[in-house]
Amino acid sequence: MLALALTGAISAAAAAAAGYQSMSPTGQWYGKTFTGLKRGSRQLALTYDDGPNDPHTLRLLEVLATHDVKATFFLIGRYVQQHPEIARAIAQAGHVVGNHTFTHPWLVFQSEAVIRQELTQCRSALQDAIGKHSNLFRPPFGARRPAVMRVARELGLEPIMWNVTGYDWNAPPADIIERKVSNQIRGGDVILLHDGGHKHIGADRSQTLIATDHLIARFKPEGYKFVTIPQMADDEED
Ligand SMILES: [Zn+2]
Repeated sequence: MLALALTGAISAAAAAAAGYQSMSPTGQWYGKTFTGLKRGSRQLALTYDDGPNDPHTLRLLEVLATHDVKATFFLIGRYVQQHPEIARAIAQAGHVVGNHTFTHPWLVFQSEAVIRQELTQCRSALQDAIGKHSNLFRPPFGARRPAVMRVARELGLEPIMWNVTGYDWNAPPADIIERKVSNQIRGGDVILLHDGGHKHIGADRSQTLIATDHLIARFKPEGYKFVTIPQMADDEED
């Protein structure tokens, strides 16, 4: 009985740990996933999820252009089909575009067939809208499990997580987003923000735009360089 009880306790703990790892952006159990550079680098990578979004994505492009900063955007395929012109504007402005699935499901609950379909459908939508784009992939909700990573790699996609989050998905005031991000910056960070919302197009991201403007204005004079994920990853390999 005791052995049985212990086995139960161990597997419950293991399951809890696995669950935590599958949701933790810096968890590395399921294969190497890029989450930023070593602490102390002077590079920062802004990443924006859940676009293209009307009208906030185009406004964000204006903010980034003002500062001459390039960022990385993880787009939802079905939104790309609805607004291919916004997806094109992102790419034409020199930003990097990556795959954030077609419908933004919780991939942890999906079969491999569905995972594969979500990734390939988003890839086709991006291909139709902008043509050549990056092989970067960010799982919705940051949720990973071995099947997700296996399918992503089969399709030649590189999973990209983050180590700093603005907690901006429910649109808090800009100064709160700015403070949350600033408090986590150590150098070499991948910063998660949102220019869209996974539930529908039209989510109000005005506060994220203001926070973006303030964050760049604050960290650039301190010697930080804002780069895309491929630029940051290149630096890691050097
Ligand atoms: Zn998302």
